[in-house]
Amino acid sequence: TKKYGDQPYTIYSEELDLQTRYKLTIEKDLKNALRNQEFMLHYQPIVDLESGDITAMEALIRWNHPTLGLVPPDNFIPVSEESGQIIPIGNWVLETACRQNKQWQEAGHGPFKICVNISTIQLQREDFVETLRCILKKTGLDPQWLELEVTEGILMEDTVFLKESLLKLKSLGVSVAIDDFGTGYTSLSYLRQFSFDRVKIDRSFIKDIHTDVNGKAITSTIIALAHRLNIGVIAEGIEDEQQLSFLQGETCDEGQGYYFSRPMAPDKHDFPLLNKK
Ligand code: C2E
Ligand code: CA
Ligand code: CA
Ligand code: CA
Repeated sequence: TKKYGDQPYTIYSEELDLQTRYKLTIEKDLKNALRNQEFMLHYQPIVDLESGDITAMEALIRWNHPTLGLVPPDNFIPVSEESGQIIPIGNWVLETACRQNKQWQEAGHGPFKICVNISTIQLQREDFVETLRCILKKTGLDPQWLELEVTEGILMEDTVFLKESLLKLKSLGVSVAIDDFGTGYTSLSYLRQFSFDRVKIDRSFIKDIHTDVNGKAITSTIIALAHRLNIGVIAEGIEDEQQLSFLQGETCDEGQGYYFSRPMAPDKHDFPLLNKK
């Protein structure tokens, strides 16, 4: 019996070991990843649910690690936030995404917005607005075509400083969306108070639309209230026709998800074919 009894524990500890080693490798190699040019951006379209037109592209970072392969952002963004490396990485993302959108515009696509995910750590820096101004100038992108996505958690931070930063971003001409909405503790009144331009309803609510009456209720309530506050709504994670038609029925403005397109490298996008409404 000892033999059998020992086995599960051995497997478990080996798995744990593997996980720990994976994490350690990430922490160690993240230091050189930017310099080694191992990051790239994939882009996922955001679509007008009425016309089917592309209104924006969201930039999503990927790390092409030499031995681990593609490392998803959830596995290294939190690590980079802890170490502070999110600052140079985030600046690289902003510059690359703005330059890409400028290139698309020059090639005759769009114009549409480029949406960039911004970490709380970035937004908290005194020099963030100035850095952004430089990036816009350098890449030549008109600020109206840049949207920053911040998560709901940001609203728990220093609200005076945050309000000021958001106003400065406004005066720069960029728009700001609140990401993963509905997963945190904030209420819709915050949205108005902080003058956010758009709300992205978290994927978890869209996922449950078929099966869960609560998911449906929450989704339509967010849409209705946001509209009363004059704020646009984007639904994330649309994967099928049924989810799409529910959202269209609720007059959700825009959508994003595998149903339209997965995130892809910039040269993989076939723009005319994306109109799939
Ligand atoms: P997010 O901002 O909520 O991004 C949406 C995530 O949902 C992406 O995962 C995307 O690939 C995935 N997704 C899109 N459509 C569908 C769908 O129909 N079904 C399902 N199941 N998933 C869908 P990804 O690319 O792995 O990114 C994960 C998170 O990492 C992002 O969540 C964002 O919080 C963060 N992230 C990504 N890029 C950056 C970046 O450049 N900077 C920062 N600070 N965070 C980033
Ligand atoms: Ca996002
Ligand atoms: Ca999101
Ligand atoms: Ca998310």
